Amino acid sequence: MALINCKKCGKLFESENNILCKRCSEELDNPYTKIKNYLYYHRGANLMQIAEATGISRSLILKFMREGKLETMNKKETDF
Ligand SMILES: [Zn+2]
Repeated sequence: MALINCKKCGKLFESENNILCKRCSEELDNPYTKIKNYLYYHRGANLMQIAEATGISRSLILKFMREGKLETMNKKETDF
């Protein structure tokens, strides 16, 4: 194992072939973070597109929408 700097936060950590520290990789695995990141680059993407691109289930995405966490979405998409 080697000590390297996390590519995201710059923190020094013991790496096992990963470039992000534990905290950042956990954050990256977080479905909400994934969706937010996707929407950042794909503004106005619909539910299907998000689900396909992120591999996150549509029901979970819908749940985030209903909680008002994904405000860049079209309101119409949450109606079905
Ligand atoms: Zn980090």
